[in-house]
Amino acid sequence: MAVVGLYFIGLVFGGVITDPNITILYVTIAVLAFTFVLLTMTRMRRGIRIGAYTPVKVLSVVKCGQCSFKQIKNFAIGDFVFKALGKCTQCMTGDLTINGIYTEGSPKK
Ligand SMILES: [Zn+2]
Repeated sequence: MAVVGLYFIGLVFGGVITDPNITILYVTIAVLAFTFVLLTMTRMRRGIRIGAYTPVKVLSVVKCGQCSFKQIKNFAIGDFVFKALGKCTQCMTGDLTINGIYTEGSPKK
C-alpha cells in the first residue's frame, strides 16, 4: 500500500514538476511522512499490547525458621524459594528464607 502511495506521488509530481531538486524535496517529504506513519503505527500497536496486558503481581513469602515471623514482599529479580535473606528482624537469631513465590492473579482466574 505504501509502495503504491509512493508510486502515485512520483507519478503525480513526476508529470508536473520538471525540476529534479523539487522532486527530491517531495520524495524526502514523502519518505519522512511514511516514516512518521510507521512510527505512529508501531507506537499504537505497543500501546494496545500494554493496554491488553494486565500486570501480574508476583509476591514472595518470607518466613523465619525460628519464630512465627512471616512477611509478604514484592518479588524481586533473583528471588527463589529457600533463598536466605539474612537474620530475622524480629527474633534476631533465626534465618529468613523465602518460603514461597506466588502470583496474585487477575480476578478472572
Ligand atoms: Zn524470627
